[in-house]
Amino acid sequence: MKNHFTLCQSIVFSVLLICSAARAEEAHTQAIITRIMNTRQAILAKAGSSSADKYLFLAFWDFDGTILKGDCSEGLKLQGKSAYKGLAELAIESGYSRIYAPEGGFDRFWKDYRHFEEGIGRWLAYPFIPQMLRGARTSDISALAEEQFATVLQDYYFQSSIDMLHALESKGINNYIISASADIFVDAAATTLGLPKERFHGIEVQVEEGRLTEKLIYPITWAKGKIEKLTNIVATLHSTHPDKNIIILAAFGNSYSTDAPFLEYVAKQSLPAGKPVAVMINGGEAPAAYKDVFLRVQQTETIEISKSQ
Ligand SMILES: [Mg+2]
Repeated sequence: MKNHFTLCQSIVFSVLLICSAARAEEAHTQAIITRIMNTRQAILAKAGSSSADKYLFLAFWDFDGTILKGDCSEGLKLQGKSAYKGLAELAIESGYSRIYAPEGGFDRFWKDYRHFEEGIGRWLAYPFIPQMLRGARTSDISALAEEQFATVLQDYYFQSSIDMLHALESKGINNYIISASADIFVDAAATTLGLPKERFHGIEVQVEEGRLTEKLIYPITWAKGKIEKLTNIVATLHSTHPDKNIIILAAFGNSYSTDAPFLEYVAKQSLPAGKPVAVMINGGEAPAAYKDVFLRVQQTETIEISKSQ
């Protein structure tokens, strides 16, 4: 019995050790929050007392692979098995594409999409996702995406990203999302992240009589297009808040090819005090062009994993 008890104890301790090791791995979370808050504080201190309401502080986020493990448009495969389907597949299966039939259409779409992406360019592939839904009612696509975020995708949010985003938001820093997924898809994540829909920006097509068209609205929000979207958002905030200083404190992304331009833009700003931080999540070694520009971190823990612990 004693042995049995000791065995149980050692199992419990091992589990606790594994849990604490997993959490220790993501110790960057608090360090990044503190660093951003210190920069905010240094800017306010320099501006003098009663200056807090003269500033609007912002943080910008990529979405897929940065907040969400996997990709809301393309899905997520783990060890060759589908963990969740992408919204492109679900929309086709639901009969919302006039180009790809619900039966067998997704396989055709995927071949075309991969050919566009790898054989021609991502500038053709990424906009094609909302474009292949031309004719679909925006209300149908929004409802489908909202349902998928509420029931499946939110479990795949990275715990650390959610912790950082919520900590910043609770301390008065406004978080914005700039994604290369379809705008109508990422908008549907708003409720699950507790942010206003207006803060979500993806690849957008014109809407006519309540239906998506193939007509693109520029800029296309990937690579350098993300910088253009970011500067457009800041310009709009300047015009709606003419009495405020707008300060971008942080940016978060996961890809050197599609996020590095806007992360670098944020990292290289000069602030009234302190330095901005640009965080590269799970991006690996930086290419020579971006050496020492980003804070590189690793994230594995998702909401689903946290729940099970
Ligand atoms: Mg990404």
